[in-house]
Amino acid sequence: MFEKILIANRGEIALRIQRACRELGIRTVVVHSEADTEAKYVKLADESVCIGPAPAAASYLNIQAIISAAEVTDAEAIHPGYGFLSENADFAEKVEASGFVFIGPRPENIRLMGDKVSAKQAMIKAGVPVVPGSEGALPEQSTEIIKIARKVGYPVIIKAAAGGGGRGMRVVHTEAALLNAINLTRQEALAAFGNATVYIEKFLENPRHIEIQVLADEHKNTVFLGERDCSMQRRHQKIIEEAPAPEMTAKQRERIGERCADACRKIGYRGAGTFEFLYENGEFYFIEMNTRLQVEHPVTEMITGLDLVQLQIHIANGEKLPFRQKDIELRGHAIECRINAEDPYRFTPSPGRITSYHPPGGPGIRVDTHVYAGYSVPPNYDSMIGKVIAYGATREQAIRRMRIALSEMAIEGIQTNIPLHLDLLHDLRFLRGGTSIHYLEQKLAEEKKKKS
Ligand code: ADP
Repeated sequence: MFEKILIANRGEIALRIQRACRELGIRTVVVHSEADTEAKYVKLADESVCIGPAPAAASYLNIQAIISAAEVTDAEAIHPGYGFLSENADFAEKVEASGFVFIGPRPENIRLMGDKVSAKQAMIKAGVPVVPGSEGALPEQSTEIIKIARKVGYPVIIKAAAGGGGRGMRVVHTEAALLNAINLTRQEALAAFGNATVYIEKFLENPRHIEIQVLADEHKNTVFLGERDCSMQRRHQKIIEEAPAPEMTAKQRERIGERCADACRKIGYRGAGTFEFLYENGEFYFIEMNTRLQVEHPVTEMITGLDLVQLQIHIANGEKLPFRQKDIELRGHAIECRINAEDPYRFTPSPGRITSYHPPGGPGIRVDTHVYAGYSVPPNYDSMIGKVIAYGATREQAIRRMRIALSEMAIEGIQTNIPLHLDLLHDLRFLRGGTSIHYLEQKLAEEKKKKS
């Protein structure tokens, strides 16, 4: 096993990975920006290296600085967490070329899946159902584009091949708006991702977001760990996730899960990964694959009893998965609420000093966060400051426990989205389960109308 791992990330996930390493008896190096020097998890690590100023481009995205930090500390492997460089194939390649182990998939798999057009084509080839749309990138000629969109049928969604994080997407309802929207999306995609390639898909009006977690080792063993329902979203960003998905049958789960595991074998996938689907009228439609650990991995951990981060490390160490598909048992129900430092209804970021902090507890409650009283949330990064996960024998019990947990939890000095979560945990449609990805935005729009 590795003796020392470098964690190339920050915040709650840096702490989560650190805990997994400590449990395995592995020493940790945390790299950090000047904005995170005082964070407790940085001090808890065996070693820490400051790799640059606060802006991510100069620190958490600085490949050379991270590799140098691994060299001077004699780390053997690098865990990228999620976001930042976690899905950057060039980074994975440089890590390996410098003689370190990348705790993640092979660079060529990251590259294949990082381009949504090639990802979709690979999935079609592997027999995974996809959203109907253009077969590959859109051509330049307007007449061709119009023909393709007609064939797909309106409304359509234009998506950047290199898009991510909910950006680089635009819905078009009529042919009159099509070409202009495509030009705008191309320009945005070029500015944000350095790649103007776009494609179109049928825009699904009422889907749920359901994703399948997979794990694959270097020895052709691949398993799926059930699904997560992440339909509660705002601006394509998830805020509540749960496992299993309400009303999913064992048969449906097995059918789609086996397709995903099989696709992993076909592309030679290694490590943890997530196949994201839209789910409508009983059918799954692949939208993208995330070649990394997901924010919402804890809900899967709660219902499988597995530690996904430790398994990532064992796989990177070349070990065989210690179980087969038939050994995976899903038990109970888990829900995760992402806690964001933001205005709960206007969604403006709310960085600053946390003056008092009371975490919740009790049966079935897990809190993954790096914050504490006196911690200052820097304004430079994502607004998510932690996650509360509630486990119960049933969905109802998990929801009840989550309500209690969030009503106990106190974070003062900054604003958080806890009030919005408490609202949703009493929302009748959410309680029934199975709301679509558009539900939250519709609900927020209606409430705004009522108020004005
Ligand atoms: P990203 O990589 O930016 O997360 P995704 O392709 O995963 O982009 O899509 C993110 C979200 O956008 C989905 O969860 C869904 O809410 C919405 N979306 C994407 N494709 C479609 C589609 N064809 N129809 C309706 N909504 C879509």
